[in-house]
Amino acid sequence: MLVSFPNMGHSWPAFKALFKPLGVDIVLPDPTNREAVKIGVKHSPEFVCFPFKTTLGDFVNAIEKGADTLVMAIDCGPCRFGFYHAVQERILHDMGYKHIRVIPLDQADLLEFKWVQTILQVSQTKNLLLLPKAINAVILFLKKAKYIADIQTAEGLIRAYERNQGDTTRLVKKLLVQLDETDKLSELRKFRSVITNSFKEIDIDRDRNPLKVALAGEIHVTLEHYVNLDIRRRLGELQVEVHQNLSLYDWVVHKFHLNYHRKWLEYLARPHVPMDIGGECVWVLGEYIDRARAGFNGFIHTYPFTCMPEVTARTIITNKLKKEYDLPAIFFSMDEHSGSEGFRTRIEAFVDLMNARRDQKEKQGDNIKDNLKSKSHSVNGNSFFNEIVQIINTK
Ligand code: SF4
Repeated sequence: MLVSFPNMGHSWPAFKALFKPLGVDIVLPDPTNREAVKIGVKHSPEFVCFPFKTTLGDFVNAIEKGADTLVMAIDCGPCRFGFYHAVQERILHDMGYKHIRVIPLDQADLLEFKWVQTILQVSQTKNLLLLPKAINAVILFLKKAKYIADIQTAEGLIRAYERNQGDTTRLVKKLLVQLDETDKLSELRKFRSVITNSFKEIDIDRDRNPLKVALAGEIHVTLEHYVNLDIRRRLGELQVEVHQNLSLYDWVVHKFHLNYHRKWLEYLARPHVPMDIGGECVWVLGEYIDRARAGFNGFIHTYPFTCMPEVTARTIITNKLKKEYDLPAIFFSMDEHSGSEGFRTRIEAFVDLMNARRDQKEKQGDNIKDNLKSKSHSVNGNSFFNEIVQIINTK
């Protein structure tokens, strides 16, 4: 048995950690690419969500590399995510891959422990001796997912200050491989300092005062850099700080009902959308309000074309919240037709707009420059975020 799962940005070391301790062999699909998207699009229903198509393409790639067991997350929410695995399995069988199993990883409510079923199915055993291995796998998964979120946080901040373009990107790749290779809990406990010490080594220009932008949206598009046209790197290289709470870890903790930051965002969004309508709609609205109050310069919302919950969030932001909170926002709807050049032009125009707005406010005597820097740094983020801010601020 050779197990695989689709790509979702930096998340692969965590997914690997969930299955490796069970003794199963794992093969990763190649990073999502043009060919995978082409295959996914060709074999998917035309109007299905874009993540369905790209993950199907990843699956085909993994099958060509020998995978026979594929794991796909599912949810029971009001949108289409709940049926991805069943339809994908059928399509793969119709394509001639009759031996393939797509195993659902139920993450609708992790406290219902339906995901244990997935672990049993993947390991093909009901032996109780598996239990310690399964517990180890879950601990490794959670720890690695947290470190991946930390790497993402540091990356979003430091890239805006790097003197040698590409340093941050190279370091992130190196850290992910290092994280993947670290399987002992005793070593993993020290990984946080590995991350901070590595980022300290990057040569940064501390005199810059980058714009601060919040990035939010549908989870697959926002995390998978091929699909979002590497928006985080592009912004960072334009010397923009990217603040993103959304990560695999953020999502999993939410599904364990322990994500108090998300509860705060739900509270902010409640007057506009009083319940979860799928995707990240509720939290995108909460993020918009939260970031506007924190004095950010802009807000970016990325989502798949035809994604109902995210289109709802976009409509509420443009028609209502923008008037009330006056935080510039730009929206990117992604699908197989998204082109890199038009995308770059829009991002650059948005950065110009935010710069002009900030300059204008400064001219008006509003001493906003330093206020914004200290305010947006002091009210956002966890203790790891603050460590990275300290690296930037310490001469
Ligand atoms: S969140 Fe959007 S893209 Fe994802 S399954 Fe639901 S409708 Fe589709």
